[in-house]
Amino acid sequence: MQEKIVNSLKEHGLKATPQRVTILSSIDKKGHANIDEIFNDAKVSHPTMSLATVYKNVTSLVEMHLLKELALTNEKSKYEIAKSPHSHLICKKCGHVEDIMLSDPLAENCNRLANSNSFKLEEFELNIYGICKSCLGE
Ligand SMILES: [Zn+2]
Ligand SMILES: [Zn+2]
Repeated sequence: MQEKIVNSLKEHGLKATPQRVTILSSIDKKGHANIDEIFNDAKVSHPTMSLATVYKNVTSLVEMHLLKELALTNEKSKYEIAKSPHSHLICKKCGHVEDIMLSDPLAENCNRLANSNSFKLEEFELNIYGICKSCLGE
């Protein structure tokens, strides 16, 4: 796991600093995490790491396309390891975020919709808000 992270930092031409490795492994473990969650995790192994340091590192990892920011309604942004495009199911009760793959017809329809409005689609993001399985008590 650490090794995978170190390698992906190197692939992006970045030095595998302890801060970056700690932040990336925390996010990797959780799937999606906000700054506070990452900070609380980082404090365990690096008690001297400040929130500002976590924030600065996360911001630069987003700029380097290693992390992706997930902007949420009424909540702090979450971050995830950048991977192939997907959508999110977001629980309004507990904040749990789950990845779902986009079905082709949906992506195609959006493309067609954009085209018919003479708009060039570059990015497609779909967040679905609702109540998750465990909050529904199923
Ligand atoms: Zn929930
Ligand atoms: Zn995701």
